[in-house]
Amino acid sequence: MSTKFTEWTKRLGQQHFAMYDGTGRTLCGMPMLGNNYAHAMHDEDKAPCSQCAERMAFITEGELV
Ligand SMILES: [Zn+2]
Repeated sequence: MSTKFTEWTKRLGQQHFAMYDGTGRTLCGMPMLGNNYAHAMHDEDKAPCSQCAERMAFITEGELV
């Protein structure tokens, strides 16, 4: 995982990612409100957001949407 992203996981395990230099929103556009459970939860209990994963692939490949 590239360091230019930061993980943001909600209480129920929905795993999103945001740009490290932060705009206060995840890559899929969700406002980052409430607590971040990224480090309080095991990876196997998380459900990655497909939209965030897609955006990360675009950004990593240098293809901004
Ligand atoms: Zn997301």
